[in-house]
Amino acid sequence: MTAHVKPKALENFKARDFRMLINGVWTEGAGPALERVAPGHGIVVSRYPAGTKADAERAIAAARKAFDDGPWPTMTGAERSNILLKAADLIAARADELAFLDCIESGKPISQAKGELGGAADIWRYAAALARDLHGESYNTLGEGTLGVVLREAIGVVSIITPWNFPFLIVSQKLPFALAAGCTTVVKPSELTSGSTLVLGEILIEAGVPAGVVNILTGTGPEVGAPMTTHPDVDMVSFTGSTGVGRLTMANAAQTLKKVSLELGGKNPQIVFPDANLDEFLDAAVFGAYFNAGECCNAGSRLILHKSIAADVTARIAELAKKVKVGDPLDPTTQVGAIITPQHLEKIGSYVDGATKAGASVALGGGALDLGLGQFMAPTVLSGVLPEMTVAREEVFGPVLSVLTFETTQEAIRIANAIDYGLSAGVWSRDFDTCLTIGRKVRAGTVWMNTFMDGASELPFGGYRQSGLGRELGRHAVEDYTETKTLNMHMGARTGWWMPR
Ligand code: NDP
Repeated sequence: MTAHVKPKALENFKARDFRMLINGVWTEGAGPALERVAPGHGIVVSRYPAGTKADAERAIAAARKAFDDGPWPTMTGAERSNILLKAADLIAARADELAFLDCIESGKPISQAKGELGGAADIWRYAAALARDLHGESYNTLGEGTLGVVLREAIGVVSIITPWNFPFLIVSQKLPFALAAGCTTVVKPSELTSGSTLVLGEILIEAGVPAGVVNILTGTGPEVGAPMTTHPDVDMVSFTGSTGVGRLTMANAAQTLKKVSLELGGKNPQIVFPDANLDEFLDAAVFGAYFNAGECCNAGSRLILHKSIAADVTARIAELAKKVKVGDPLDPTTQVGAIITPQHLEKIGSYVDGATKAGASVALGGGALDLGLGQFMAPTVLSGVLPEMTVAREEVFGPVLSVLTFETTQEAIRIANAIDYGLSAGVWSRDFDTCLTIGRKVRAGTVWMNTFMDGASELPFGGYRQSGLGRELGRHAVEDYTETKTLNMHMGARTGWWMPR
C-alpha cells in the first residue's frame, strides 16, 4: 500500500462523451449530462446523457416494433448465432478498451477487468451455441389421434437492468441469452459505469444486430429504470442489483404480471473443518473476501471456522491479507482497487463501527486508506462475530471479512442458513461425506467444495430466498427468455361432446 499519483495513462486524458442508443440511432439526452468521477483517480472520466422517462418509452417502443415486425425473432438460430459469435470476436478485439473503461469507472484493478472481459467473450460464444440448440418437446404418446408439440418462443421485449460492480460481465450474463432466444431488449447500465455497455452497443451494430433489437439507455434508476419495469409493452425484466431495488422491481412488474428474473445480494459463508487443506483455503479466503474490493454479490464475507482452528486460521488470514496490494486500479500489479463512491466507503465504515460496538474485534484494517487520490478501504478482518450481529447478516459490499465459529456440523449448517440470503457457499474438508452433507444442506444456489468463486459459462448461477429468482448462465439461461406454447394437434374424427358420434 503506497500513495499513488495520477498515472501516465490519465495525464492527457479527456473525459469520454457517450450517447444513448435508441432504435439504432446514437442519441443525446435532453438535459445536462451525468458525470462519472473515477473512484480511484478523482477526475471526471465519462459523461452520459441523463435519460428521461420519455427516452425509456421511445426505447421500449423501438424494441416492441423490432420484436413484432422482425426480423430478429424470425431469423434462424444459426443466423442469430453467427451474429453473436461475431460480437464475441469484436468484444475480444476491443477488450483492452472495454477493460480500461470498467477499470476507471468502477475502480476495479485493470488486470481483473481484463480477466472479466475474457470471461464475457466466452459467455457470448456459449450463448451463440445455445441459439442453435433452443428447442421444445414433442409427445407422440398421446394416442392415435393426437400429437403434442411444445414450442419455445422468444418471450418478447426484455428490460435488462445492471449494477456497477461488474459492468460488462453482468450485461453479458443476460443480453446474449435474451438475443439467442430471439428477444429484443432495452438495457440500462448503472449510472456510475455505463461506458462499456455503450461500447457494446457499437459492437452489436457492427456485428449485424438490427436497429431496435438492443437499445441502451443511460440515466438514473428511478427516472429511466422504473418505466422499464412498469411499461405494458415490456414482457420480462431481468435485474441484477440490491435486494431492495429487486423487491421494488418485482412489485412494479407485478402490475402487468411480467416475468421477472432477479440476481440480488449475498452473505456467503465458507465453512472450514479442521481436516481441510488450510494452505489452499487461506488463499481462497483472502480471494473470496477482497476480490473486487468485496463489492461482489458472491463475496465470501462470512467465514465459519471450526472452533479448534479458529484462532490460528484467523491470525494466518490477517497475515496474508496484509500482503494484498491495494492501490491504483490502473497499476497492473494492484489486487484491490478503489471503492465505488465516497458514500459507499462511509457505509462500509459504519458496518465495521457497528460490529465493534456489538462486541466484534478488528483483527486487521478497519478503516479507509488515504492513497492521495480516490477512495480506498483497508482489507479488514473482524473476529468474534456472532451470527445475530448485523455484520454477519447484512451485505457489507466491501473488503470486510467476518469470522464466526462452530463446533458441530449441524451448528455450521444452522449458522450458514440463518440469514435471508442464499446465493453461494463454500465448504473446506478432505472428507467427502462432510463436503456432500454441507453441499446438500446449505440453502444456496452454488456450493463450492475445496475451492471458491470458480465459475463457467455452462454452470447456472443465482440465488435462493432473498438472493434472487431464476438462474443465469448454463443451458437453461436461454430458456428463461422464452414462453412455452403447446400445440395440441388432432387427426381424424373427434369424440363428440354435444353430438354423439
Ligand atoms: P442497485 O440496486 O442500487 O442498482 C442496480 C440497478 O438498478 C442500477 O442500474 C440502478 O440504477 C437501477 N435502479 C435503481 N433504482 C431503480 C428503480 N426504482 N427502478 C429500476 N431500476 C432501478 O444496486 P447497485 O447498483 O448499487 O449494486 C450493488 C448491489 O447489487 C449490491 O447490493 C449487490 O449485492 C447487488 N448485486 C447482486 C449481484 C448478483 O448477481 N446477485 C451481482 C452484482 C450486484 P442507478 O444506480 O443508475 O440509479
